[in-house]
Amino acid sequence: MLDTRARPLRDLRISVTDRCNFRCTYCMPKEVFGRDYRFLDRRELLTFEEIARLATQFVSLGVAKLRITGGEPLLRRELEELIAQLAPLGAEVTMTTNGALLPAKARLLADAGLDRITVSLDSLDDESFRALNDVDFPVARVLAGIESAAAAGLPVKVNCVVKRGVNDGEILALARHFHGTGHTLRFIEYMDVGHTNGWRLDDVVPAAEIVSTISAELPLEPVDPGYRGEVARRYRYADGGGEIGVIASVTQPFCGDCTRARLSAEGKLFTCLFALRGHDLRAVLRGGASDDELAETVRDVWERRSDRYSELRSTATDGLEKVEMSYIGG
Ligand code: SAM
Repeated sequence: MLDTRARPLRDLRISVTDRCNFRCTYCMPKEVFGRDYRFLDRRELLTFEEIARLATQFVSLGVAKLRITGGEPLLRRELEELIAQLAPLGAEVTMTTNGALLPAKARLLADAGLDRITVSLDSLDDESFRALNDVDFPVARVLAGIESAAAAGLPVKVNCVVKRGVNDGEILALARHFHGTGHTLRFIEYMDVGHTNGWRLDDVVPAAEIVSTISAELPLEPVDPGYRGEVARRYRYADGGGEIGVIASVTQPFCGDCTRARLSAEGKLFTCLFALRGHDLRAVLRGGASDDELAETVRDVWERRSDRYSELRSTATDGLEKVEMSYIGG
């Protein structure tokens, strides 16, 4: 099954909630996501059974990787029960989390069949981390979460979004910290997702600059991509200290290889991170569709897909409305 640009569907990102226990200033600023913000109601969310039923159809259409995200996915109660329903489908099951609740959850998730985990961490400096998450959450507890995941046997990646003037001074400290630990650190260019973060091109630290900053102290060499559609460009430390990745979504867009679809917590299917609208799969599901009809709906959406926002990004795309990152999950 290919879209209009001959791209297959390989990855599905599933958001399980639009709520988060952090208020990262660039993602869920308090001024917008405050007391009056209307989050999705419980009845609006897909149930675990509905998610698993949809995921089954996506796997039958070629999806090989399911990534659970949010909001903060670990806020969804008994998430391990969803993992247990997804694990037998035959796709790899992964999760992206801020790590805050991992000390209590890592073992349950691993036992339920989670294959890997990605923890977001933008700073190692406690003061700046507390300011960034804007709920005064200490960095030590995220580091404890990473350790719990590793202790439970989960391979760990650590994702850091770099924003100029905010945490670009922390790139080396992060690289030093994770060098030699076996946890792959990946740096992500700050993107113009949503419209609440006031994004400007000047805020972006290009991936090439991140690589040269690290390489000046800890020499790096490029590694060949592992598979088609791998978003991170990989580098290995010349001294054998492991790998890092950079995701150059702004300076080197990879739409041509994008094999991802995204399912929001209320069951809308998005075929681009920068889209405004998604296709309402919950309505199809709750309208009594059969499994075949569900699969046909997804096929139809994918075969009409032509998105390539990041390749078109320009002043012309500046004013476009887009879905929020905290809604769709990255
Ligand atoms: N709460 C989970 C977490 O912290 O990983 C999952 C959802 S969060 C929206 C997913 C990722 O999106 C986080 O790593 C966050 O840093 C990243 N993110 C949010 N806004 C971004 C932006 N404008 N550009 C790049 N990454 C962004």
